[in-house]
Amino acid sequence: MTSPQDSNTPSPLLARLSDPYLVVDGEGRVLECNQTTVAFLGLSPGDSIRSCFHSDELLAQLPQIIASGAANEIEQVPLGLNDNDQIIVGIQMIPIAPGDAPRILVSLNTGTSSLDFLQEAARKTDERIQQLSEQLALVSRELLMKTTQLAEQKQKTDVIINGMENGLIGTDDQGHIIQFNDTAETLTHLSGDDTRNGMLHEVCPTISQAIHWNESSPESLDKSTVDLPLHDRMVRIHCSPIHEEGRFAGVVLILVDRTKEQELEQLKADIISIVSHEMRSPLTSIKGYVDLMLGGDLGPIPDSIQGYLSIVSDNSKRLSELLDDMLDLSRLESGQLTLSMGEVDVKYVCDYVYHNLKPMADEKQITLSCEVQAGLHVSGDVDRLQQALTNLVSNAVKYTPEKGTVLVQAYADSGQVVMSVKDNGIGISEDDQKKLFQKFYRVKSEHTRNIGGTGLGLSITRTIVDGHKGTISLESAPGEGSTFSISLPAWRSS
Ligand code: ADP
Repeated sequence: MTSPQDSNTPSPLLARLSDPYLVVDGEGRVLECNQTTVAFLGLSPGDSIRSCFHSDELLAQLPQIIASGAANEIEQVPLGLNDNDQIIVGIQMIPIAPGDAPRILVSLNTGTSSLDFLQEAARKTDERIQQLSEQLALVSRELLMKTTQLAEQKQKTDVIINGMENGLIGTDDQGHIIQFNDTAETLTHLSGDDTRNGMLHEVCPTISQAIHWNESSPESLDKSTVDLPLHDRMVRIHCSPIHEEGRFAGVVLILVDRTKEQELEQLKADIISIVSHEMRSPLTSIKGYVDLMLGGDLGPIPDSIQGYLSIVSDNSKRLSELLDDMLDLSRLESGQLTLSMGEVDVKYVCDYVYHNLKPMADEKQITLSCEVQAGLHVSGDVDRLQQALTNLVSNAVKYTPEKGTVLVQAYADSGQVVMSVKDNGIGISEDDQKKLFQKFYRVKSEHTRNIGGTGLGLSITRTIVDGHKGTISLESAPGEGSTFSISLPAWRSS
């Protein structure tokens, strides 16, 4: 019997055959083969011929040939040299005289000599290599083009970024500086050499502290806006953490030079302050004398004059209110009026406003009531909170017809304290609601025509609420009434 071991030394006769031949067992396992088979079919003793012929047809015929003892021939079997090239071969299968185990001689007829065949195979492989190297050259050319395009793109982007009026600093998720434009260099008095590959907290410690950058947990950074004096400039820094697919990827800082704007704001605040002070004294004296006359202290006033004097008195009162509001708003906006924060008892604020405005409500027979949950405290400036709530309640009384109701409530709501003022007055249309908090905005309608006001009360209220890191909201419908709600962070003893 021939075993796979002794098949390495095929019979001398078969070894001379220039076409591939092989001897397989009934399951298609190679028992013996010549060098041509090894060289160009890649088959060796022990392999299955399935790996070469990729077809079950050949295998299926083997048991049949063994059983019948007759030779068989299959014409035109495609034989893969590699993935792309195939040759067509004829295959002859001859059962070998029965021994211990059935064997079949498989011989391939390539139509050419095996040398030609190998040369053809080599030529095809060369062709393939040639094709591949051409493809490779094409890909490298494209890659080079793309790289050049990218470099050009980056250059253009750099020109734009460096031409920006505002400073721009960008970092990666660790805080390495990857972008620092020319304006940022000017504002920080740093140069490219100082910033290249540096860490934000080392290169710009002042900025890093201002935005609360924490180098050990950069991902905890919040979006924020801070004003920071940098050298001789006042710079507003907009800090935006960047996220990619939910993962912290770095931060972008936009630096806006607000020195001029701040100087202008200061100038505006100074003018308003001077003008208000200068106007207040003559106004007080006008109102004082007019009220004296109206009170009859300076002798009897004819009825015809009394009406005019009342108009002068009312208008000087309105003018005085306007001056107060303008002064307040200008101080609040310019940051001159700093809030003196502390623990504020919400009940105290509500009671204060209630008692102050009760007479005004009584005058219109409006039912003013106050419901305050016990134990509410916020962190705030008590005078400013009283001022904000006074504005809302006095508006509610002003814009509610006689015999209406105004309800002041205070309650806790998810870590916040809400103070709300609800009335059943004239209400506000959706359009007006959008503009209501703008300075000097007043709703113009037949209901408001005869109601005095400056249009500054709600702007002041919102500025105060903003200063307390709170929010103000409004629900209203014309003819049904309005509810203004101020929500403030509850007091936390640290
Ligand atoms: P004003 O001095 O005119 O009251 P505000 O800024 O306080 O100025 O209010 C702006 C405008 O908003 C008012 O002129 C009024 O038209 C409207 N408004 C404010 N509160 C109410 C309210 N409770 N009901 C209806 N309208 C209101």
